[in-house]
Amino acid sequence: MGKRALAAALAALLLAGCAVQQTPAEKTVFCMDTVMELRVWGRDGQTACDALEDALLEMDRTWNASSEASALAAYQAGEPVSQEAQDVLARVQALKERTGGAFDPQLYRLTEAWGFFSGDYRVPTPAEIQAALADPVYDLGGVIKGYAGEKLAALLSELEVDRAVLNLGGNVQTYGEKPGGEPWQIALQDPRGAGQNLVVSVTGTMAVVTSGDYQRYFELDGVRYHHIMDPWTGYPADSGLASVTVICADGMTADALSTALFVLGLEEGTALWRASEDFEAVFILTDGQVYATQGAALSGGKYQVISR
Ligand code: AMP
Ligand code: MG
Repeated sequence: MGKRALAAALAALLLAGCAVQQTPAEKTVFCMDTVMELRVWGRDGQTACDALEDALLEMDRTWNASSEASALAAYQAGEPVSQEAQDVLARVQALKERTGGAFDPQLYRLTEAWGFFSGDYRVPTPAEIQAALADPVYDLGGVIKGYAGEKLAALLSELEVDRAVLNLGGNVQTYGEKPGGEPWQIALQDPRGAGQNLVVSVTGTMAVVTSGDYQRYFELDGVRYHHIMDPWTGYPADSGLASVTVICADGMTADALSTALFVLGLEEGTALWRASEDFEAVFILTDGQVYATQGAALSGGKYQVISR
């Protein structure tokens, strides 16, 4: 091949490479009661999207707290469960301890009493709340999407894709490096639609998980009742926060912490961050003020930095 032909062939190859690199395969999946958006870059992106969807649907079956066929139902009935299920249950108990009980994986009865499983929302009576709190039944709704993110990242590694961004209903999981080591830019939802355009930058494989009072709620007599429960009162957490975003390499930890920090509020949440090394957080208060821990690469708006 002459020099020119070689150069042309190389250029064509590069162009083809760029086309593969720049256009991700995409798939929308409805799963775990939410809409998920998968974007995968690489040679077999579409095949990978299909594999991710299968894995998500399988996880939904395994961890759906309301399903008799779930691993949770089996575990609660004292039946043997897989090693993976045992590991997950051990991890959620450890996360409960780490957060002083603010993340509580056994609030199924409480969430049920408020109607968040059925959609028949109601304010339970104090007696109903006490009864629900006295009956610990597993519901992994507070961690399952984060766990899904970490499992899917492992699957993407097996599938040898280039990189991916998975938006699992507000839980974002990135996978792999962007060309040139550029960070991923993850937009944070503005809890009150007040025109905030905050963006978190992360590099490589990371979980960026948000818990917010706008994600699932009902209103009665002008009061907003949302889906994140204070395990001590049995009422939706009322800690002055509209949302908390946690940035952490470990998906399940990110998800448990986002829920826990939402319950704990800014002050106690900050104390938990100071006692930890493995995550960063962005707190958005109900009055719109924003606080971010010093390692959170936040841009796009005004905020106060929380230092060590
Ligand atoms: P997230 O959106 O990750 O904060 O999780 C909220 C979901 O977790 C709810 O829809 C419930 O299924 C469950 N949940 C509610 N309150 C708690 C809590 N304090 N600890 C753990 N899980 C909770
Ligand atoms: Mg969570």
